[in-house]
Amino acid sequence: MSDAATSKRAVEQTAEAIRAGDRVALARAITLVESAKPEDQEAAQTLLETLLPHTGTSIRVGISGVPGAGKSTLIDQLGLNLVAQGHKVAVLAVDPTSSRSGGSILGDKTRMGRLASEPSAFIRPSPAGDSLGGVTKTTRETIALAEAAGYDVVLVETVGVGQSETAVSNMVDVFVVVAIAGAGDELQGIKRGLLELADIIAVNKADGDNVERANRAAMEYKTALHILASGQSGWDPQVLTLSARDNRGLDALWQKVGERHAGLKTSGALAARRADQAVSWMREIFDQRLLAAFKGGRRAARHWRELEDKVRAGAMTAGAAAEELGRLAGLKNSD
Ligand code: GDP
Repeated sequence: MSDAATSKRAVEQTAEAIRAGDRVALARAITLVESAKPEDQEAAQTLLETLLPHTGTSIRVGISGVPGAGKSTLIDQLGLNLVAQGHKVAVLAVDPTSSRSGGSILGDKTRMGRLASEPSAFIRPSPAGDSLGGVTKTTRETIALAEAAGYDVVLVETVGVGQSETAVSNMVDVFVVVAIAGAGDELQGIKRGLLELADIIAVNKADGDNVERANRAAMEYKTALHILASGQSGWDPQVLTLSARDNRGLDALWQKVGERHAGLKTSGALAARRADQAVSWMREIFDQRLLAAFKGGRRAARHWRELEDKVRAGAMTAGAAAEELGRLAGLKNSD
């Protein structure tokens, strides 16, 4: 057999193994997708193309919140509940060992420990170093691979750093923000931008003597959402209280997720949303490749640094420097 035929056969075998639910094959495929090596990238794209007809089949849920809000406790318990109902649950999680992720410092090993030992669950931490609040350039691909492996629920966890929430909301169907009652001003810890992204706000830790405060926080979120007057999409963001620790309110949460998902599906908005997401994904990949190809050239890399220094020193405007880079890259303005 020729090399091409051999590698085609290898891809087909991997694809079959993934579809058959082989967890090792799935984990390897994710590693391949995450690899920066050009030959791995090529193999990964071939694999993803082969699996494409079997993707798009899950409910994709983003779960965000500040460290300590109870995301991993919630995902662990919610995942267990869903597995008990016959779902296959994939979790793309923040790696707490990654210093940049801001994940929980406590319990590196016990995070989602119960769910991790479930045969119907698959937990994949984002690689340290390459992650923005648990989201990486390859999270989308990983979602697709998990779907091809038969996971019908994909939970994508993120902590609130920079653009990570926006990035995650651009790859999921339903976005859940896990909040907690704070001291004093309840809304302090949550940015307006995050409220605008949320389909559901789950005020966690509504247990023990914290119930009253959680209820009050929920009221404040409702008021804030009302002021924002979202819901143009035919959905009023929902606020509910729950206790991940005591497994209370989680069924109601999942019901809301299901309602939101079903609503999007029936109206055709889900297909449109996913189509838009795929196109912006293409743009992102292209931007990254373009930039990488350009910066990869030695001459360009040297100029890049020089121009950065000039901009930093105030000797050149950002616009002029970008234009200069454009000229180096052979871009013309008038095309
Ligand atoms: P994460 O950083 O958002 O993933 O938060 P964790 O799930 O690690 O939870 C942070 C802390 O809050 C841990 O000590 C949990 O035991 C605790 N916690 C999480 N959920 C609840 C809850 O529903 N009630 C109470 N009382 N504590 C909780």
